[in-house]
Amino acid sequence: MYRNFKIVPNIIFGRGSFNQLGDILAPKRVTPDSYIVFVLDDIFKERPLKNRIPMEKGDLLILVNVDNEPTTKYIDQLVAQIQAYNPNKPVGIIGIGGGSTMDIAKAISLMLNNPGSAADYQGWDLIKNPAVYHAAVPTLAGTGAEVSRTTVLTGPVKKLGINSDFTVYDQIMLDPELIDGVPKDQWFYTGMDCYIHDIESLHGTYINEFSRAYAEKSVALCRQVFLDDHPDKDDKLMMASYFGGMSIAYSQVGACHALSYGLAFVLGTHHGIGCCITFDHLEEVYPEGVREFRRMMEKHDIHLPRNLTKDLDEQSLQTMAEVAIGLTPLWENCFGKDWQQIITKERLLDMYRKM
Ligand code: NAD
Ligand code: ZN
Repeated sequence: MYRNFKIVPNIIFGRGSFNQLGDILAPKRVTPDSYIVFVLDDIFKERPLKNRIPMEKGDLLILVNVDNEPTTKYIDQLVAQIQAYNPNKPVGIIGIGGGSTMDIAKAISLMLNNPGSAADYQGWDLIKNPAVYHAAVPTLAGTGAEVSRTTVLTGPVKKLGINSDFTVYDQIMLDPELIDGVPKDQWFYTGMDCYIHDIESLHGTYINEFSRAYAEKSVALCRQVFLDDHPDKDDKLMMASYFGGMSIAYSQVGACHALSYGLAFVLGTHHGIGCCITFDHLEEVYPEGVREFRRMMEKHDIHLPRNLTKDLDEQSLQTMAEVAIGLTPLWENCFGKDWQQIITKERLLDMYRKM
């Protein structure tokens, strides 16, 4: 069976395109009471971008904190906050920030039209009703969250996305000016998330010409960004992220992402840095990719944290390995149908002990 793949219908790309956000949203304001909720990463609390948001009378600005990656509990709180603000539903939810903020905005727009807790919908195609109109403005590039059909959330029992066609954004705005000035380490880690998406997609058994077309271009852009020097590197990284996301949507990620989920679940390690830590231990699986990744780290003087698991007790290590090994499609993409003959819990435990 082939998947009938939903994509973002409206995209605006270009430096300064953020200035057009008001015009894009205007047709959504159908009645005088219509209001829009802007979900902004609180890193912008004191920054000029906040004052450039095209707020109108009745609109709500929510500053979200992403020191921890989004949880279902946080989503439920934010939805309750909007419902308390105005008993009528907003006509749009606009997420402005990195992958975490984009995921928060996606989840809010879904949960305004679906009863219960966000935790009830972690999984595949559990959402019944379409979301409120939602748009994203990335301020970090690499996750591909702007194009994916998931919003990754940590719930009471699992870290798992709300995967559904309704999750996909109605509109994305790719303005490369907005990723200027990101601290170097964060820029690198989130950018490497994209590079790793490409390598895992290209090296996977699920690869097809659709995914290859996007991943090859994305990896070429990543090389220009992280190995060369280009004045328009921010434009390139935004497109790399978009293409990387398009590639994995029709293939799958692999061993690096599976291992990073174990780290995230037990240690709370953030996605970008977590993928870098695990990728560095996967030279046997992705030899060329890992060697190139190390050249990129060297060029940008990035030093990954070491000995993360040194003080972990045996039970926590076991949990880590169980979370990772449970991600069947990722392992199957990486090693094929017989992956269990290659990847055992013991092998994963060995790898985690070295991280
Ligand atoms: P992030 O959104 O978690 O942000 C990381 C840090 O950068 C935060 O401190 C944030 O405040 C800051 N930041 C954001 N924009 C900035 C800017 N312009 N300047 C300075 N600082 C800025 O980071 P991320 O790597 O973009 O996203 C990771 C998240 O994305 C994780 O929660 C992960 O689960 C999720 N993710 C989702 C998908 C998906 O398909 N939905 C895919 C991959 C990752
Ligand atoms: Zn990723």
